[in-house]
Amino acid sequence: MSEAVHLDDIAAALLMRIIAQSPESELVGAVLPNGTYQLGDSIVSGKRHVTGMVPGNSIATAHNHPGGNPDFSADDVENADQIQRTAYLGAGQNPALAELRRYDPGFTETYRGQDGKKRSHGEAVLAQFPMDEFRAYLMRKLLDRAADDPRGLMR
Ligand SMILES: [Zn+2]
Repeated sequence: MSEAVHLDDIAAALLMRIIAQSPESELVGAVLPNGTYQLGDSIVSGKRHVTGMVPGNSIATAHNHPGGNPDFSADDVENADQIQRTAYLGAGQNPALAELRRYDPGFTETYRGQDGKKRSHGEAVLAQFPMDEFRAYLMRKLLDRAADDPRGLMR
């Protein structure tokens, strides 16, 4: 259980970075086996959504839904099922207020849309607030400074 909570914490930080960097378009990222994370490519459309845009050794994927839809789409569920990795979703354009959801292939409940394809509401993620990513976001947003600027948040 503590391991799952830890993965949620990492994913919450990754999603904050994703939304901070790409609030108006979908972007995918991956959690790596050593607990770090990295951004992948922008999501253009359709099936290539997540598969093939993250390293093969990733242990989880994350992407954002700028429009605010908190459900995992048919493509999202299909991709997660195909690569058998936990998928995270951040809905909304505000990195600090986005709704975070989690989908675990084979565990999380799914439903069928009118087209017969599986979708999922996912499960709510209760994670530690990613303070370092939030600080980096504020540095860029408010002060136009790099995350490692020695002046920090001071004027
Ligand atoms: Zn999606």
